Amino acid sequence: MTAHPVTLRKRPELFEVRLQEVRFESPDTATLYLDAGERKDYRAGQYVSISPHQFLELRPWIAWLEEQKGRKEPVRPYSLSSAPHEDLIAITVKEEEYIPGRMKYPPLLSNLLVRGLHPGARFTVLGYSGPYVLPDDLDERCNLVVHVVAGSGAVPNFGILKDALHRGHRARHVYVASNKTRQDILYHGELTALERRYPDRLRVVHALTRDPDAGESFRHGRISDALLHEVIPESERETCLVYACGPAILPWDRRAALEAGTSPTPRFMETVLGHLHTLGIHDKRIRRETYG
Ligand SMILES: Cc1cc2nc3c(=O)[nH]c(=O)nc-3n(C[C@H](O)[C@H](O)[C@H](O)COP(=O)(O)OP(=O)(O)OC[C@H]3O[C@@H](n4cnc5c(N)ncnc54)[C@H](O)[C@@H]3O)c2cc1C
Repeated sequence: MTAHPVTLRKRPELFEVRLQEVRFESPDTATLYLDAGERKDYRAGQYVSISPHQFLELRPWIAWLEEQKGRKEPVRPYSLSSAPHEDLIAITVKEEEYIPGRMKYPPLLSNLLVRGLHPGARFTVLGYSGPYVLPDDLDERCNLVVHVVAGSGAVPNFGILKDALHRGHRARHVYVASNKTRQDILYHGELTALERRYPDRLRVVHALTRDPDAGESFRHGRISDALLHEVIPESERETCLVYACGPAILPWDRRAALEAGTSPTPRFMETVLGHLHTLGIHDKRIRRETYG
């Protein structure tokens, strides 16, 4: 984490939201637009937490999972994809899949949020939380903000990006996103529109790992040393701020590796941090948010 000053608002509180609209961003990921009334006192990049216990339809699943796991099901955090100047708050949720034999338990909440709620539904969220926000003195600190995201890791960075551009910060932004295919890219149209609107302040690069026919405007393969080397000029490496969000090694991956006497396979976050360190970017200039 960086030592840059960040003013976070008051303690998170429970409040009710009303679902206005569900918009699919990709086949398995949807944005839920929520009317939070007056409760919009968040900073771009923060999250709300949602308790699965409030949804009656999940109760049999919760009882079963709690018995199997021997503990209470926790709340699930969801980053805000909206920015504070927008009328509605928004979360973007990826429906987790269940692969029998590979996964110990079926996922609980994400499927309901993506497919099971209809406009008008009301539910309670706890918010707002999280230090994954821009520093108060961004313009004095850096000229370049680098966003490095994978899959639904795009969510808080999209909010941060919209907020920074809207507020007219001087810093430029490079947004590098990793996805499997074109159809998995979140906010593709909006990102393109932002890039056109702010050509001097935003560069967007999409890397695709499983879409070889996607065309020349996409990079092919994972986010690499070479790609980050290209988008982060040497002169900015000591002063830029990096916001990296995406999957990291999970606690149960670590446990399984320990039991097998192996090391857990690095995921997006571990790999990207390695690349950033290779470029000489110091940890104190890197903020990270990892999704379970
Ligand atoms: C700060 C933060 C922000 C987040 N923001 C977003 C966001 O913007 N969008 C988004 O889609 N997600 C986000 N997430 C992830 C989100 O909170 C949920 O974890 C996700 O939606 C899955 O929830 P679920 O209830 O569907 O699945 P879960 O019930 O949590 O299960 C997920 C997977 O974990 C496995 N699992 C669960 N418990 C165990 C166990 N004890 N042992 C072994 N395996 C287990 C299950 O097999 C399943 O495959 C965020 C997470 C964090 C920490």
